[in-house]
Amino acid sequence: MKILIATEKPFAKKALDGIKEILAAADYEVALLEKYTEKEELIAAVRDVDGMIVRSDKVTAEVIEAAEQLKIVVRAGAGFDNVDLKAASARGIVVMNTPGQNSNAVAELAVAMMIYMSRNRFTPGTGFELQGKTVGIHAYGNVGRLVGRKAKALGMNVIAYDPFVTDSALFENDGVEQVGSVEELYAASDFLSLHIPATEQTRKSIGYKLMMSMPKGATLVNTARKEVIDEVGLEAAMTERTDLKYVTDIAPDDVATMTAMFGNRFFATPKKMGAETAEANINAGLAAARQVVGYLRDGITKFQVNK
Ligand code: NAD
Repeated sequence: MKILIATEKPFAKKALDGIKEILAAADYEVALLEKYTEKEELIAAVRDVDGMIVRSDKVTAEVIEAAEQLKIVVRAGAGFDNVDLKAASARGIVVMNTPGQNSNAVAELAVAMMIYMSRNRFTPGTGFELQGKTVGIHAYGNVGRLVGRKAKALGMNVIAYDPFVTDSALFENDGVEQVGSVEELYAASDFLSLHIPATEQTRKSIGYKLMMSMPKGATLVNTARKEVIDEVGLEAAMTERTDLKYVTDIAPDDVATMTAMFGNRFFATPKKMGAETAEANINAGLAAARQVVGYLRDGITKFQVNK
């Protein structure tokens, strides 16, 4: 069996060493494609591989078509919108993610972003404190739950909305109030921490109306995906309401305009960095390698996302 590790943004060395060790122990051949810039390089590299480990790399229908022997793709990370699930399923290829492995890194960044924005992006002037403010958690999954717990420790009031979490004990155990609608969540949140996946349902779902409903001085914190934002609507709301702020780990398409328009009320990390910690790299990378072996050797499909 041959496994390709394809990472346009490479794993940290320790993570890569660990991945190679797990694959070698299973007697698999390992191919490495790092820091590639052209999709043709990826297409050439997948031709004879049985499995692939990727990060945010785009596994398109074209890539899948070229990978004639491919049986499994594992996305080392949570979001799997970079993999064409339809094309994979049509070929019977299993796609997995590694849920939860980088959640703490992302949650810490979300909290850091709240502090950064409440202190005027560390520029002179009077800021405000997080303690006593309300943070709304939009989607109570792996990252959202951790943000909720960390926010509680900072003395914040935490509310959350997730229509797919049916066990209310999850909220209760964290001392988090579950609200009944997206509208209710945004209207009550001084900070809104976004943790929804990018799906057909969520694409461009956060825009003018929800932003305009937020309390005075509110901040939208996005460590999820840029695709869930309606940029035109967001810009309109921030133009009309000069008290609103937006901080994101996924730069909007219109980043230059937004930087020029909104000054200290807007910040985007230069490159997505939520999961960029040594710990998250190692956790997600090793989990991906174990899942590749688990599937190819033992048929384990626990984290399959295209069932
Ligand atoms: P998760 O799968 O654990 O949780 C997602 C939650 O979203 C689930 O609880 C689900 O019920 C909920 N959900 C789905 N559709 C919804 C909808 N329409 N409305 C409300 N809730 C909905 O995922 P996670 O690990 O918590 O990741 C959350 C987000 O963070 C994803 O978008 C992921 O891509 C992103 N992420 C970003 C980085 C980064 O580097 N910035 C790293 C990891 C994850």
